[in-house]
Amino acid sequence: MKLYSPETIRNIKERYGFQLSKSLGQNFLTDKNIIDRIIEATEITAEDLVIEIGPGIGVITAEAAARAKKVVAVEIDRNLIPILNDTLADFDNVEIINADVLKTDLNEIIEREGFKTAKIIGNLPYYITTPIIMALLERGVHAESITVMMQKEVADRIQASPGGKTCGAITAAVNYYCTVTEVAFVPRTVFVPAPKVDSAVLRFDVRKEKEVELSDEKLFFRCIKAGFGQRRKTLLNSLGGACSLTKDELKGCLEKAGVDPSRRAETLTIREFADIANRIKEVSED
Ligand code: SAM
Repeated sequence: MKLYSPETIRNIKERYGFQLSKSLGQNFLTDKNIIDRIIEATEITAEDLVIEIGPGIGVITAEAAARAKKVVAVEIDRNLIPILNDTLADFDNVEIINADVLKTDLNEIIEREGFKTAKIIGNLPYYITTPIIMALLERGVHAESITVMMQKEVADRIQASPGGKTCGAITAAVNYYCTVTEVAFVPRTVFVPAPKVDSAVLRFDVRKEKEVELSDEKLFFRCIKAGFGQRRKTLLNSLGGACSLTKDELKGCLEKAGVDPSRRAETLTIREFADIANRIKEVSED
């Protein structure tokens, strides 16, 4: 049985009385070429632990399991669990966890399975693409690489250069932690049901050495989120929410970092954000 065909999805719906949930971002992949591109880009070896986010009916899971030592797949929809137990019955190296990935400690899974790192893979649910990526990065998941599909617009945002209207907090966060490669463009027509937008697959490789030195990573992220959260405001006005400095102190920090306080977040490079956060940290500690 071909797992990835629209016909299989129809059969599964009938046999299990399964209803696709729009609110859980269930757009299932039906194109073997795209599945192969994701799998190839992940470069799975027989020594690897693969963690999959949102296996659906298991189209990516099965291909990963055929190559990896172990696959752990985290799926929120309990109605998919009996289906996955059947579609992946041929594999004894797959574990399905019925949980919300945002509430799951992936590092704990990696440790429990006896690995140092994992390769993260998935066709991410649209409604929480950005929170999932941010959570993986901010929680410092021990990922060797993260190869995930997302809506094209988010992929473009992640790859935007500073100064562009499309760049956002996620641009800075991803580029601080990782280098990014675009693996594939994915048209909306290869999903059941077809979403309203196209997708792209990106591979993130976690940087061994960070591009910038930070004295307080959490403060750096608060600055990024505050800056982009109120992107129309000048940095002098938007960054107040990220720290407890007075406006004068903040102005001093921006000037010391060589950044005009009237600039906006979208014009900053990661290095400038880092410089500002480090200056704020210095003054906060006085
Ligand atoms: N991997 C399958 C494929 O490519 O056909 C399904 C991808 S579908 C876009 C997203 C999957 O993520 C769905 O199976 C959905 O139920 C699951 N999902 C949604 N929110 C989730 C969450 N918070 N944690 C874990 N899985 C989630």
